[in-house]
Amino acid sequence: MNLSEHIKDPLFILLSEAAEEMDVRCCLVGGYVRDIFLMVSSQDIDIVTVGKGIELAELVAAKLGKSTRVNVFKNFGTAQLRYGDFELEFVGARRESYQRESRKPIVEDGSLEDDLRRRDFTINAMAVSLNKADYGELIDPFDGRNDLRKKILRTPCDPDLTFSDDPLRMMRALRFATTLQFNIDSATFEAIRRNKERISIVSAERIIDEIQKMMMAERPSKGFQLMDRSGLLDIILPELAALKGVETKDGKGHKDNFLHTLAVLDKVAAQSDNIYLRWAALLHDIAKPLCKRWDDKLGWTFHNHNFLGEKKIPGIFRRLKLPMNEHMKYVQKLVGLHMRPIALVEEEVSDSAVRRLLFDAGDDIEDLMILCEADITSKNPLKVQRFLENFQLVRRKMIDLEERDRIRNMQPPVSGEEIMDTFNLPPGKLVGEIKNSIKDAILDGLIPNEYGAARDFMLQKGRELGLEPHEQEGSSS
Ligand code: ATP
Ligand code: MG
Repeated sequence: MNLSEHIKDPLFILLSEAAEEMDVRCCLVGGYVRDIFLMVSSQDIDIVTVGKGIELAELVAAKLGKSTRVNVFKNFGTAQLRYGDFELEFVGARRESYQRESRKPIVEDGSLEDDLRRRDFTINAMAVSLNKADYGELIDPFDGRNDLRKKILRTPCDPDLTFSDDPLRMMRALRFATTLQFNIDSATFEAIRRNKERISIVSAERIIDEIQKMMMAERPSKGFQLMDRSGLLDIILPELAALKGVETKDGKGHKDNFLHTLAVLDKVAAQSDNIYLRWAALLHDIAKPLCKRWDDKLGWTFHNHNFLGEKKIPGIFRRLKLPMNEHMKYVQKLVGLHMRPIALVEEEVSDSAVRRLLFDAGDDIEDLMILCEADITSKNPLKVQRFLENFQLVRRKMIDLEERDRIRNMQPPVSGEEIMDTFNLPPGKLVGEIKNSIKDAILDGLIPNEYGAARDFMLQKGRELGLEPHEQEGSSS
């Protein structure tokens, strides 16, 4: 099979000429070749040469022009260069052997076929020649083309060896299965189950990279289902595995919170590409197992699981090597608030409750509403309809109130300094109390969100607390 139609970019012609000049075997390999068949454009170009990989990179860079810099990694025998949007990586064909306790192989020069054999999946183990003599010819010793057609992930060699050598490949299998919507060949999957404990030699950073790629798939739930079925979930995210199952008492069962969480995750993913909103969906019920109680009147309850969940997020983020910054705070905030809109529609949708929600959620209110709408996974269509209609009512009220009162990013119209100046107070609890009472008065609709009204309210509140406004200098005459 010849793919020269798909590699017409002048860059490839230039690569071909350079290889000719140096008389070196040179092929496109891996993801770029796979993506030609999948008809997705890819900016990462991996090039394998038989010997002289670094020299070829240097010649190509010289041909591309003086400003092209080559990054050489002598220890790995690889070289990288950027050209426009393209990221080129040159590797000399190699054979690898592994030691038990490390993912780092012992590397020797090898043939093109040796190089393809060390790759993770047959669909990633294809090459396309860039040499003049057979330009565009597909080299596919493991029948990756056929596996691509069948949408199957399979290792080129014995899967137990593949996964035991480099256990990161297990996560890569789950990730590709999720993003490409492929199946994992059963022998390959069984080997993942057998080798799951080997994941312990992989760094948390590499694991989370794969999970984040899974998270960005159209239907991320598939990845977590596969993690569960392979046993990797228990090791990597035991908190999520703990959501599984249904307990029944007096004929009453609660929902399976793992399946519920995955349904919420997929629904959120259909609405937003924000990866942290997706994390909030994945973790929104994470504390339910800790909060589960049986109540003779109410049945199963999970009181405060939102607050406890919010508290658990930093520990999970730290362990998974997710960023401990404003992104984490955002996830915490959404998890903490995720019961509020639902509580709102269950009771009466009062102006004051909607103002408080707007104030607490701030600019994240729309994301919170997406999460909460996705959280409705009831099988009862009437119930779902009632909830969604009520959410519409909440949304309309939010728009009205926001227009009128500008609550969402409210800065209290009277500052702490002004309170201290007015009553000649030192910084302290009392100042905070007055400030809060002004905020509450606005949120409850007692006074408008305006300076004059807020100042009057402050003076009145001060009087109630036995404080006298002190005469300001220069204001007496
Ligand atoms: P993507 O770039 O979309 O994540 P990719 O398949 O291009 O997918 P890379 O990490 O860029 O993945 O790797 C390029 C190629 O290197 C792969 O196609 C595969 O052939 C090989 N490869 C990468 N990681 C491994 C690994 N851990 N074990 C074996 N081969 C690997
Ligand atoms: Mg790649």
